[in-house]
Amino acid sequence: MTDAFTLFERHVNPGLAGLLRFTGLDRVESHAEGPYVWDTTGKRYLDFLGLYGTLNLGHRHPRVVEAVKRQLDRMPMSVRILVSEPTARLAAKLAEITPEGLEMVFFGNSGAEAVEAAIKLARAHTGRPTLVTTEGGFHGKTMGALSLTPRPQYQDPAKPLLPGVRVVPYGDLKALEEAMDETVAAVIVEPVQGEGGIRVPPEGYLRGVRELTRRWGALMIADEVQTGLGRTGKLWGVEWEAVAPDLLTSAKALGGGVMPIGACVGRPEVFSVFKENPLYHSSTFGGNPLAAAAALAAIEVTLEENLPQRALEVGAYLMEGLKGLAEAFPHLIAEVRGRGLMLGVEFQDADIGALVVAELAERGVLTAFGLNNPQVVRLEPPLIIGKEHVDEALSALEESLKATEKALEGLL
Ligand SMILES: *Cc1c(COP(=O)(O)O)cnc(C)c1O
Repeated sequence: MTDAFTLFERHVNPGLAGLLRFTGLDRVESHAEGPYVWDTTGKRYLDFLGLYGTLNLGHRHPRVVEAVKRQLDRMPMSVRILVSEPTARLAAKLAEITPEGLEMVFFGNSGAEAVEAAIKLARAHTGRPTLVTTEGGFHGKTMGALSLTPRPQYQDPAKPLLPGVRVVPYGDLKALEEAMDETVAAVIVEPVQGEGGIRVPPEGYLRGVRELTRRWGALMIADEVQTGLGRTGKLWGVEWEAVAPDLLTSAKALGGGVMPIGACVGRPEVFSVFKENPLYHSSTFGGNPLAAAAALAAIEVTLEENLPQRALEVGAYLMEGLKGLAEAFPHLIAEVRGRGLMLGVEFQDADIGALVVAELAERGVLTAFGLNNPQVVRLEPPLIIGKEHVDEALSALEESLKATEKALEGLL
């Protein structure tokens, strides 16, 4: 029987298979639990990537699995012309736990779909065409979301994209001010850039975006698909500056690491288009009962176990260890940065990063680079990990750095 890796290489994505082979990850996953994953050879990995911020609760959190099983035995799909209870309860829960004024929810199945909804709502509400996004920003790869993800590798083959998109440097309020005018419908911004290489904006940036959008009658969209639900050490990334956006997108961790779901939460005025035009935007599977049950359980666990606080504490411990390694290997590591358990290690160049990722995989620790910035390796482990897991990852990283150093010496 042909192995699954070969079938993937043949029928799904040969280029990606090649990249995986290069990092020694030409492996097939078998099962997972908590912060660990096993491949079909029985090798165990500590998951320090966490599906790019999806696995805040680790793999197969028992309470999420239980909630999904219960809903599965009852009614996994909504008929849509009756109201689904888990979906309605989840919407109310999101209204309760998101910043003030955000009361209405549109459900999709992914981050990109949450962003698509935000784009359509912003244009319908303001009647304006222009969308402003940031350099290094990542908002998904469907046509609308891709138009806000300014990376030539992703955009160029798909052109033409949405018209009316302006790109400004991230963290730069002066540049944003210059990009604003009365045609701007919305400015979309990540509270911390994820794929862009874990970039934390300067203090006051999110407040500044809020003030500028308000002054110009434009909407502020906070894309919390990766930062949301405790990842940065607060429930939402915008809480670091006590900012309430007009629209907030969530996905990744929202499904508790068990189900896919995306949500766009917003102020009632911004959703008023649905009063006249109830089917302006819709999705057959968006917010289905199974996914909604998972999300409700995920939110409960996140709040009851105070996972944002835990991300802050465990994140500080991990950061301390990373800083020590950065000092010990300055010729390899340029900088470590981040917030909570959304941390990035910037290497002196992308090739060093790739070598370290491969060495880490060999030692049973999973990490990856930022999609928009291969020089930065991201550490986004489950928020449920303890110091023992951090110690395990740090010692593997130290050994990987030593091995990389040796490999580089050989090249010189
Ligand atoms: C991952 C991500 C998206 C896209 O989410 P998908 O579920 O992959 O479509 C959008 N915005 C941010 C900030 C993300 O990290």
